[in-house]
This record gives sequence, structure tokens and C-alpha cells, in this order.
Amino acid sequence: MQGRFEKRGNVGIIWINNPPVNAISVGVRAAIIDGVAKLAQDAEINIGILACEGRTFMAGADITEFGKPPLSPGLHEAINAVEGSAKPIVAAIHGTAFGGGLEVALGCHYRVAIADAKIGLPEVKLGLLPGAGGTQRLPRLIGIEAALAIIVSGDPVPAAQAAKSGVIDKIVEGDLLEGAMDYARGLAERKAPLRKVRELHVDAGKIPPGFFEAARQRLAKEKKNLFAPQRIVDALEAAATLPFDKGMARERELFLQCAQNNQSKALQHVFFAERKAANVPNLDKNVTKRDIKSVAIIGAGTMGGGIAMNFLNVGVPVTLLEMQQEALDRGVGVIRKNYENTASKGRLTMQQVQQRMGLLKPTLSYADVGEADLVIEAVFETMAIKKEVFAKLDKAVKKGAILASNTSYLSIDEIAASTSRPGDVVGMHFFSPANVMRLLEIVRGAKTAQDVLLTIVDLAKRINKVGVVCGNRDGFIGNRMLGGYAYQASLMVLEGAMPEQVDAALRNFGMPMGVLQMSDLAGLDVGYKSRKDRDPASFDGRVSRSADLLVEMGRMGQKTQAGYYDYAPGDRTPRPSAVVAEIIEKVSQEYGIARRKFTDEEIVERCFLALMNVGCDVLSEGVAYRSSDIDIVYLYGYGFPAYRGGPMFWAENAVGLKTALEKLRKYSAATGGKWLKVSPLLEKLVAEGKGFASVGQ
Ligand code: NAD
Repeated sequence: MQGRFEKRGNVGIIWINNPPVNAISVGVRAAIIDGVAKLAQDAEINIGILACEGRTFMAGADITEFGKPPLSPGLHEAINAVEGSAKPIVAAIHGTAFGGGLEVALGCHYRVAIADAKIGLPEVKLGLLPGAGGTQRLPRLIGIEAALAIIVSGDPVPAAQAAKSGVIDKIVEGDLLEGAMDYARGLAERKAPLRKVRELHVDAGKIPPGFFEAARQRLAKEKKNLFAPQRIVDALEAAATLPFDKGMARERELFLQCAQNNQSKALQHVFFAERKAANVPNLDKNVTKRDIKSVAIIGAGTMGGGIAMNFLNVGVPVTLLEMQQEALDRGVGVIRKNYENTASKGRLTMQQVQQRMGLLKPTLSYADVGEADLVIEAVFETMAIKKEVFAKLDKAVKKGAILASNTSYLSIDEIAASTSRPGDVVGMHFFSPANVMRLLEIVRGAKTAQDVLLTIVDLAKRINKVGVVCGNRDGFIGNRMLGGYAYQASLMVLEGAMPEQVDAALRNFGMPMGVLQMSDLAGLDVGYKSRKDRDPASFDGRVSRSADLLVEMGRMGQKTQAGYYDYAPGDRTPRPSAVVAEIIEKVSQEYGIARRKFTDEEIVERCFLALMNVGCDVLSEGVAYRSSDIDIVYLYGYGFPAYRGGPMFWAENAVGLKTALEKLRKYSAATGGKWLKVSPLLEKLVAEGKGFASVGQ
């Protein structure tokens, strides 16, 4: 049993103790039931408190029980025991009462909390709904609209707000237990009623007419393609229209529908994949991380500025270096403007803006970066310039500092070789906008020291990023795979689909933007320039021909308000262009390609199977440690929809590797096998009847 019972005069305290977060394990559930029984047995006791030891109230389910046969007693049993107690029980909340934790608290007759506590029902984030009465009790306590907002967002709600809406009865100042005891004794003295939430009724008069239908329609837009939010509305409708027990049965039914849906499996995969990504295999256990108290960034352009904000946000001082005063002023100005915009939306105070800007030291001199614990280079993507910068850093920066590059494609080993300390060199590949996108690819060079790697993995968490360690190969994980994906999109444009159809199919699949739209955002000139530097035999020139013609016409993408699409001034909405359609048709003709109709299904399949196919190569080469890391890269770096689990999970679970292989063979054969080569790893896995879990570490 993970808890104990304590008697203090007329108050019985049911203590839960399951460090670190009091997850509601079977032992915790047993302790609750046992505590309620002890409360009943002692005639001197007339009121109970349910409280948790350690740093938090029960913060949710015990994830180690996920996917295993249910252990008795279950959560419903524990909650029913609490609610069925003949003596009132007060939940005393500190830290977080999340998921099952809040559902237990809702089974209590009253709830008090300290001011910095939080409550929430985050199940929707795993594609589920609260399955232990949350959808039936919360609306009975605070009304349908407020309950829907909490359950469908899954976000934490601060105690003060929860007190306003009626989830919390009292905010306790000072010591929680003292406050809870006072509150409980007060209840006992005035013989307060046993307030069972199950016996309350949703006030139908307070529900606006047509509320549920409107909610379904709104959520179909706001939570596009998501299964659970719709089921949550169904569950709340049941709370409003059915007696409690029938509502509970409906909740169960809807919970099971969610649990059996692929989206929930995908979201759970993401949950575990994110945790696994922080695991770097084969690190010596005795390695300790280095201290990072200050950071220097070289280059104050698009990336340098965004990267700087990550550190300023968590109180780490940043020295920002540029070559010219003008570029430095521009870079600092952009950072300030970004913060001021956030402040104008009420998400930062002006004092916080000043604090953050106060931590930023702009400079033109390498002498100012000498004491930094970590230097991140974000200058132009040219090897010669990177080498020059690293050679300068080698001279200027103290020994023991980490030297990182934000390069998108270049070799970390080659960059490291321009220093006398290649062990201190690592890749830190942020994604644009660097202050927003959560992915950080951590590129392990051949000589990168273990403690450097460990330090950066830890630092990623400190700045709220998801770090994925990868090998040093062209484009690392994400950008390398992008090639396969973008190639198919452009090829289909050549074969008959217009950019707007390709991009719409990708958006409907759940991508935040289509891949051609993304090219417009990045600038078509970027690819154009890189193709000029490459051996023309190394890429399929037919597929890039339209883009080349567009660039030569001055259509560089969003920055010129014209690329694959037209753009109105100050508006990023892509508008189909007649000029582009004409060019595309001309290029198809030029290569003798008969244009045909595409289904959205084929577009999605070709793009993402090709993406996964490169993922297989990345995996078999050891550039990624495990397929789930590749999923994380696509989720947090490219906006692949989490409810599909990432490209590898999607291919394995929604398509099936065998089908994926058959389709890829077909697509490969259609282009002569030259530009789409089926990954030998995929062939091998299918032949052996194995899945991605069998590969990697
Ligand atoms: P950018 O052109 O916006 O900024 C580069 C900045 O570096 C400029 O302000 C320039 O003045 C400065 N600079 C150039 N040489 C310098 C030197 N020797 N010393 C000091 N400053 C110097 O470029 P960006 O988009 O910020 O890209 C920077 C790096 O980040 C590149 O390696 C790029 O591949 C990588 N990257 C870019 C993106 C993206 O989406 N833009 C994403 C990930 C990684």
C-alpha cells in the first residue's frame, strides 16, 4: 500500500505516498480504500482529509500500468469509496491534481488547494477522455461550458481560476495541512452536508440552445481530424441529459472508443518517444555534464536571434556577435520586437521584456565571447565561413567551453577539424522559428566528447526543447528526409497535380502547411542556388525545372509575394496562380509527361511513404538511434500531426510495412528506380516479418 492513515483528534488524514508524483498506482488506490475504511471505523473521527506527501497531489495515472491487464482495485472503486464515505472528505491539493488525480478529488466532498496548485484533465492529449467520472462530475460541479473548456484543452488550470469556477472550494494561505484541517473542522462544526458531486445536476437552463452541435462544429475546425474532442462533447451531452450512472456508462463506452482508436495509440507512442529521445545509448555512466551559465551566439540573423531568445527566456545571459554594427542592431531589434509583440498579447510584462533584453549583450568583438560556456554559431551556410569562425573561436574562447554549429547540412567533423579541440564541437540544429519550434537536432561528430553530448541533451530540456541526438550526415535526420518528400510532391506537380491540390491534401492530412507552400516560405532561390553548386547528374532536373523557371522570373516565394503561389501584400495566404499553372503545364509538355488526375490519397501516400523510406535509410545507417526519434523530429521540427504518431509510426501502423513496401516498389518502378530507391532495411524488415522496434537501440 502506498499511503497511510493518521488520526489527529476528530480528523482522519488519508496520506498518499508514491514518489515522485504520486501516480495513482494500484498501491495508491488500495491506500485510498483502506483510508476510507479506517475513517468509518473510528467513532471519534467525524471528518477526513485526503492529502499527498512529497511534491504534489496525485498527478495522474501510473504509466507503468499502461497496456497491461487491469489491477484491482481500480480507480472507479477508489473514487466510489471516497464519494460513498459517510463522513465528509476534503481533498487537500498542492502541486498538480491531474487526470485521475483530479477525478479522485472530484469524488471528495470538498476541495481545498494552495495558491500555486494546478488542476487539469490532460487525457485529451493522449487521445482519450477522462474515464473515471471526470466528464460526468466536472460539469455537475461547474457547468457544461466551463467543463468542456477544461477537458477539451487538457491544459492545467491555476488554483485561483479553479476556485472561481467552483472546482476548488477554498484557497489555503500558508501551510496546506493546517489550512485543510481548519477548513475540515469548520465543516464538521457546522455539520456541513455530504456534498456528493454525483448527486448534483447540470443546470439545463444554463446551456445555450444548440450548444453541443455548435461545439462539435467548432472543434471540428479547431481540433481538425481529432477523434477525442468530439467524443468529449458526446460525454458532456450525456452528463447534461442522463442520470449519473447512465452517464458513467456512456463515458465508459466513449472512453473505450477513444482508447481503441489509432489516434490514441499514436499519441501514446509520441508520449513515450519523447521520453526515449533523451536516452543516449552507450554513454559512460561516470560522465558528468558541464556547467552552462552563459552563452554566446555568432550571427544575429534569422536563426541567431531566435536561438538567443531560448536562453534569455530561461535567464541565461547571451552575448550576440555580428560582423557589422548594422546587422547587430537589426538582430537585436528583431529580438526586442518579438518580445514586445508577446507583451502586447499579454503573455509577458514589459518588466519581463526589459529583464530579458538586459541579459543580452550585443558585440562586434570576439574578445567578448571568450568567457562563454557555450558558443553557438549561426552564420551563413558556407563551409569556408564556418571554418573561419571556428578557427577564431578556437583562439578566443576559454578551454572547456562547448562550440556548437547550427548548420543545416554541413559536416560537423569538417567544422570541428578547424579547431584544436574537436571533442568540444557538436551540432545544435534548431528549427525556424528557433524561439518557437521545439525540436533540437543534436549532431554527434566523430570526435564529440561524451560529456559535451550529455550537456547539450540536458540543456535542450532546460530551454524547453526536445533534443534528438543524430549522426553527422548530410541533412542529419529531418532535412535529409525532406528530400524524399519534397521530390514526390514536385514530381506529382509535373505529372498532373497542381501545387494547390498537393498542398491541400497534405494540410488535410494534418500538416500545418504543404511542402510547396513551405518552399515559398523558405525561398525558392535557396534551392535554386544550391542546385547551381551541385552536379546536375545528382538530382532529377525535370522536377526542379518549374522552380528554376519561377526563380528566373523573380518569383522567389513569399518574400517577393510570388512563388508557387501569389501572395497579397502582408498576407501569407497562398493563392493559386494562373502564371504558375501555365509554366507547370509547359514543363510537363517539355518532358513529354502526360498530365493526369491525382487523388488526395495518392498524394499523401506518395509523399509520406517516400519520407518514411528515407527514414529507413537514416535508421539503418545509425544516423538515428531509433525509429521513434525520427517520428519526434518530424513532429516537433516539421509539424507532422502528433495524432498520426510521426511518419515511421504512421507507415507501420496506419499503412502497414508490407503494404508500404509494395507501394514504394510501384512508385520506384514508375520513375525507373533512379530517384526513389526502396530502402534495403524496409525490404529486410518485411521479409523477416519484423517492425521498427527491432532496429536501433
Ligand atoms: P541569416 O542570413 O539570416 O543570418 C546569418 C547571419 O550571420 C547574418 O546576420 C550575417 O551578418 C551573420 N554573419 C555571417 N558571417 C558572419 C561572421 N563571420 N561572423 C559573424 N556573423 C556573421 O541566416 P540564417 O537563416 O539565420 O542561417 C544561419 C545558419 O542556420 C545557417 O547555417 C543555416 O543553414 C542554419 N539554419 C537555418 C534555418 C532557417 O530556416 N533559416 C534553419 C535551421 C538552420
